[in-house]
Amino acid sequence: RDVPVMGCRLESTSAAPDASGPPAEKYEYQAEVSRLMDLIVNSLYSNKDVFLRELISNASDALDKLRFLSVTEPDLLKDAFDLDIRIQTDKDNGIITITDTGIGMTRQELIDCLGTIAQSGTAKFLKALKESKDAGAESNLIGQFGVGFYSAFLVSERVEVSTKSPKSDKQYVWESEANSSSYTIREETDPSKLIPRGTRLTLYLKRDDKGFAHPERIQKLVQNYSLFVSFPIYTWQEKG
Ligand code: ADP
Ligand code: MG
Repeated sequence: RDVPVMGCRLESTSAAPDASGPPAEKYEYQAEVSRLMDLIVNSLYSNKDVFLRELISNASDALDKLRFLSVTEPDLLKDAFDLDIRIQTDKDNGIITITDTGIGMTRQELIDCLGTIAQSGTAKFLKALKESKDAGAESNLIGQFGVGFYSAFLVSERVEVSTKSPKSDKQYVWESEANSSSYTIREETDPSKLIPRGTRLTLYLKRDDKGFAHPERIQKLVQNYSLFVSFPIYTWQEKG
């Protein structure tokens, strides 16, 4: 079934059928993404807090898309009725998970949305960077334009995106290390990790950024951002 303009603005592929492949396939990032990752990982950008705003805004967008589609297709809600965002912190291990019950992504959408530069903010960022002669300009530009999903790598050494689209029978896991030129996609086979619909991001924080997994810190940030989000955001801490 075609869902127009619901992917990540790559018209040629957003409506493509879900391509099934071998369990763990490796993909090279588009050159621009590699470059962006490099900048993010090596920048001295200090306002790393923004990662949470970007990821909450993606979760909120995904929930908006689902809510919009469900007006004409109420069946889309049957796998999970609640539209919400859950943020779990595990301070002992330095892990944050952000789960939404939004539209999710098919395998093909993972490739289109997280392997290429789809978003205009990021494209503007790269353009501005190219035009800037100033060494160290990226730091200001990251704050000015935002780097969307990739901002997860401001604080993470590894990111896992496990996602289930209502268009697909299967749940897929996208995985990448910071500083890598490639990412992998495999089918989620661990039954304890299956979600009815939506996306779960797992951030394995860098050694120096593990403090973000403290519940007080996350709650404070969430309080600021949640004012702009029309879905409930729940936070809780893993029992130590
Ligand atoms: P933008 O949000 O501006 O499109 P991002 O870099 O933040 O750019 O995200 C890229 C794309 O990845 C999004 O457009 C969306 O298609 C997809 N995406 C990111 N996070 C999610 C999510 N939680 N659920 C579904 N799709 C997502
Ligand atoms: Mg975004």
